[in-house]
Amino acid sequence: MHRVYLDNNATTPLLPEVFDAMRPYFGEHFGNASSIHHHGQETRAAVENARDSVAELIGCSAAEVIFTSGGTESDNLAIAGLVKPGDHVIASSIEHHAVLHAVNHLQAMGCEITVLPVDGRCLVDPDDVKRALRPSTKLVTMMMANNETGVLQPVTEIGKVAAEAGVLFHTDAVQAAGKVALDVKQIGCHALSISGHKIHGPQGTGALYVKKGTRLQPLFHGGRHERSRRAGTENVPGIVGLGQAAKLAKNGLYDGAVERLAAMRDGLERQILEQIEDACANGCGASRVPNTTNIRFDHIEGESLVIALDLKGLAVSTGAACSSGAIEPSHVLIAMGLRPEQARGSIRFSLGKQTTQADVDFALNLIPGTVSRLRELSPRYDKKAVST
Ligand code: PLP
Repeated sequence: MHRVYLDNNATTPLLPEVFDAMRPYFGEHFGNASSIHHHGQETRAAVENARDSVAELIGCSAAEVIFTSGGTESDNLAIAGLVKPGDHVIASSIEHHAVLHAVNHLQAMGCEITVLPVDGRCLVDPDDVKRALRPSTKLVTMMMANNETGVLQPVTEIGKVAAEAGVLFHTDAVQAAGKVALDVKQIGCHALSISGHKIHGPQGTGALYVKKGTRLQPLFHGGRHERSRRAGTENVPGIVGLGQAAKLAKNGLYDGAVERLAAMRDGLERQILEQIEDACANGCGASRVPNTTNIRFDHIEGESLVIALDLKGLAVSTGAACSSGAIEPSHVLIAMGLRPEQARGSIRFSLGKQTTQADVDFALNLIPGTVSRLRELSPRYDKKAVST
């Protein structure tokens, strides 16, 4: 069966160049990067080379990069590592669960938390951040690009608010990396998370930038790896893959790949909205990363649409989470003011470096017919009432 993958915000396929770079580190280059002999020197050099590539992607120095097991660990390390009991932390309601649940856990440890709302475009207001500041505020954590809508947050303004108040600022840039330019100095952050598998690198790899001079408590206790900030023998093949993916992600920002993605995403979105009544793009009033569109199809269950499209070879997703056997609508779309049934009828299409115009055309051939068939089957759908 012909299959098209438009779920790149969930994970991206490993690029062949990334796999090629990793392969020797599963075989002949097997040394522990902490060993002082030849084998260790070889893998140490590869790890440091990858660190340089990650540093270049985000505009920091290599010593400020800590390798982790992914975006979730990077977020947890930043959040738990920068605050102590009694501190006040500000987050937004549309953060990924890797941040929201980490912040909730802090609450159980005696921290105070403020979770800020977003507007209907999925945007946090930097003035809300200013108003939420307290003398005890230690950390502001706000994502750069939302994983469900692709909406870019005003992180530079938020960074300024944090800097004026002398507060630390962490941003989860997992969904921004490789899609927009990243510069930690321009953002003004003290910590920034990225994940390998969202930039066509390997799953289970990631990095956290921590600004020089920022005190960070490690999550793991053990050896002195990563300058005592993340104990554990380095995942050398994974780190090499992350480094190669970071290099390619940086190049992709300047070789026209981003513009090509944006044109395909815009075409997909425009044609869906033209061809299907009672559909609208969530967050389209804000500036977004170039690969994502999140579309609300009224009168259908998003899960049914995902399954129906999958049966025809198209992979897309909803932001819904299955909890205790029930489908919970996306917390992001609910925070934007959608009603639960509107959030449940929303689908995310996310393109990647491998997506072609033929893939987009394949999707456009399937979506309108599948949506109208599901609506015909829905007891909630009254065609006459809708179209008049
Ligand atoms: N943050 C954001 C915005 C994400 O989209 C994700 C994954 O979907 C994560 C964090 C977690 O990253 P990882 O899957 O590498 O743990």
